[in-house]
Amino acid sequence: MSTKRILIVEDDLDILRLLTRELEDAGFEVLAFDSGMRGLSAVRESEPDLVILDLGLPDLSGQEIARRVRRTGDTPIIILTAADEVGTKVEMLNAGADDYLAKPFHVEELVARVNVQLRKRTLGSAQKIGELTIDPVRRQVFWGEEEIRFSPREYELITYLAGQPGRVYSRKEIENNVWGEDLPPSSNVVDVHIANIRGKLRDAGGYGVIRTIRGVGYALKS
Ligand code: CA
Repeated sequence: MSTKRILIVEDDLDILRLLTRELEDAGFEVLAFDSGMRGLSAVRESEPDLVILDLGLPDLSGQEIARRVRRTGDTPIIILTAADEVGTKVEMLNAGADDYLAKPFHVEELVARVNVQLRKRTLGSAQKIGELTIDPVRRQVFWGEEEIRFSPREYELITYLAGQPGRVYSRKEIENNVWGEDLPPSSNVVDVHIANIRGKLRDAGGYGVIRTIRGVGYALKS
């Protein structure tokens, strides 16, 4: 995965330095600006993957920058607000912000929000079945926003069922395609894996995702 470039505009230099350092530690390339005008022209020149904007800037407000960035593209935008500016949430979202964070916040929280936004944009190649998202590039599965950690075999199994949502796959087919071998007739390994997958889906809020067709096999709900 190539390094993601994040552009920050924040006139409080302490915060700017802190965010720059933390985001660089998290593996991002960071372009930092303390002026709205310069930040805006840099957005146009450097095409960042995500933009973080302080709302209260002396020259050009974060909201105005968001509006102008939005006019030319769909770069994700996170706006930082002072606590007493939170009431303008609707205005910020209207201006095109994808998310906002009220100060003071934990930097870890910002990094998490950044990752959520970037993930949304990279899910282009992913398969979505209702709330279920399977990203084959990174071998990740999500229920809504929440990532579900499957073992390699569980991942292969759910991906196999997702090949054709709604189609009933027999145990034999699953064994041959996911295990690549005939398992002993007494083996309940497929059922055990299905139970584990269901448990993990349920923990994330996903109920009834895999149907059992008695005596035949399983199907992913379409
Ligand atoms: Ca400010």
